[in-house]
Amino acid sequence: MDRSKQKQINQNENETDAVINGHFDGRVKIPGWSAGGAAGNPSTVPSSSVMESWREERTRSLEDNEMSLPSIAAAYTTILKGLGEDPQRQGLLKTPWRAATAMQFFTKGYQEKIIDVLNDAIFDEDHDEMVIVKDIDMFSMCEHHLVPIFGRVHIGYLPNKRVLGLSKLARIVEIYSRRLQVQERLTKQIAVAITEALQPAGVGVVIEATHMCMVMRGVQKMNSKTVTSTMLGVFREDPKTRDEFLTLIRS
Ligand SMILES: [Zn+2]
Repeated sequence: MDRSKQKQINQNENETDAVINGHFDGRVKIPGWSAGGAAGNPSTVPSSSVMESWREERTRSLEDNEMSLPSIAAAYTTILKGLGEDPQRQGLLKTPWRAATAMQFFTKGYQEKIIDVLNDAIFDEDHDEMVIVKDIDMFSMCEHHLVPIFGRVHIGYLPNKRVLGLSKLARIVEIYSRRLQVQERLTKQIAVAITEALQPAGVGVVIEATHMCMVMRGVQKMNSKTVTSTMLGVFREDPKTRDEFLTLIRS
């Protein structure tokens, strides 16, 4: 990859930016990550409050989808008119409904909860080597322009007596990416979710993505990619661990 096109964002996990965690911002604390506590102290994390934050996170139900479909479709009809199109011409007759249904699908992450994914998927295991899942496909929607962001997610963590079923990492990516997003927040949400679920020694998440709002408008750079990363725990504090992760996801 062309290094000059990369944009590295190493977020500070201690910042209190209200948008960081989207649906559970402000309620989630990550004791142990602050002030150099590498492995943290899992016992200081009341699991009930963690569960609580995940339980509250779903903002849309299937019934909501059914109820809102007509109004979303009507809004698309307005958009078609506003664009100078004739919503009554044959090719567009069903477009508002199709577009509304598609938009609900593109944002179906709002219907899902992380806690449902994690149920029965966290295992006690004495494995203490880095776990890496790379090249997870990701499709999201830019919250500024409502056009796609797509790319790949690489996740690594250093277990601390608990591991997560490997396919569940991809499911976490799916839940957070199928929402209106900015890439920086998506990166951080994935890292925080894994941290809360496993209280590992460290987590690293790197996302390489193409933003259609950059490719199709504005600067129109066909091949530009945006790279974001969040490093927590030993991935942040220990350059050797971080380098091992970055080397492995590029190999
Ligand atoms: Zn955009």
